[in-house]
Amino acid sequence: MTNVLLLGAGFTADERARLTETFDSVSAAQAEDVAKIDASTRAGIKAVAFKGHMPLGAAIMDQLAGLGVIANFGVGYDAIDVTAASARGIKVTNTPDVLNDDVADLAVAMLLAQSRNMIVGDARARTGLWAKEGELPLNRKASGSSVGIVGLGRIGREIADRLAAFKMDIHYSSRSEKQTPGWTYHSDVVSLASAVDFLVIALVGGAETEKHVSAEAIAALGPRGVVVNISRGTTVDEAALLDALESGAIAGAGLDVFMNEPNIDPRFAALDNVVLQPHQGSGTVETRTAMAVLQHDNIAAFLAGQDLLTPVN
Ligand code: NAP
Repeated sequence: MTNVLLLGAGFTADERARLTETFDSVSAAQAEDVAKIDASTRAGIKAVAFKGHMPLGAAIMDQLAGLGVIANFGVGYDAIDVTAASARGIKVTNTPDVLNDDVADLAVAMLLAQSRNMIVGDARARTGLWAKEGELPLNRKASGSSVGIVGLGRIGREIADRLAAFKMDIHYSSRSEKQTPGWTYHSDVVSLASAVDFLVIALVGGAETEKHVSAEAIAALGPRGVVVNISRGTTVDEAALLDALESGAIAGAGLDVFMNEPNIDPRFAALDNVVLQPHQGSGTVETRTAMAVLQHDNIAAFLAGQDLLTPVN
């Protein structure tokens, strides 16, 4: 009997096959497709394998009367209304830890690419501009500078560990002070931003952290400041960030996440002081496979009546 729903348009063929080869499943690409599944199949759904960023709230849950688990593909589950799930006795799982390295690698790559002007440099080497105009204007030393990590969680700590190897002075903000090898704690993000050159955001997304990196924090970063964001577009005041990038109030940004992905604000494309990535933090074959396995195994555990591997609620 069909008991698993694959919800989301973004499953790759391999990810889809991993689920459909084990489970008797049905698919819905968009939220509105759930209602198109016939009522008796819907009633049998016990697990949702979810991939994507569309809101998954009470309206969908209430169409699936037998639903017991939503297994998210990704560590960030801000698209899922966990309160609504808990109220219905529905468990939520995610895919923590297996993606830490890749997301941290991308944060460091964007920090280096921005400070060394690598996107402009690539175009100069590629297009013949190098022969015409000569060397790039001198850019910016990253090693030995100061960095502030906003949110010293699983990914934030991996970023800090990497940047410590670049001889950077590590500062961080979190809701509570952590055990560190002597990194400087700031209880608020404005104090953090005013102390550093690079501000790397590794917070959870969702309503509680919306615009956590405020206009005031961006202003405090100052004209040498660079924002790197691998968390969610929601965690930064994006309008204030764009204003600061356009006016030179800060030096630049490296961004993997935006508001309204994938239709990002066209003001970003006109800037030459930014490195832009299409939300690909965890996007390696190795890590996406590990995430797919964890999503699969959470569903298998639930259907077998075993403990979930990585529960959220
Ligand atoms: P995590 O271990 O839970 O760490 C999250 C951090 O956010 C913690 O430092 C936590 O602070 C902070 N935080 C949580 N709620 C907060 C609040 N209300 N106010 C202020 N700070 C708050 O999560 P993670 O595994 O490192 O992942 C972090 C995020 O990265 C994910 O949620 C996801 O959105 C994003 N992500 C992006 C990509 C990508 O492709 N770009 C890939 C994976 C993940 P405390 O230390 O005070 O608890």
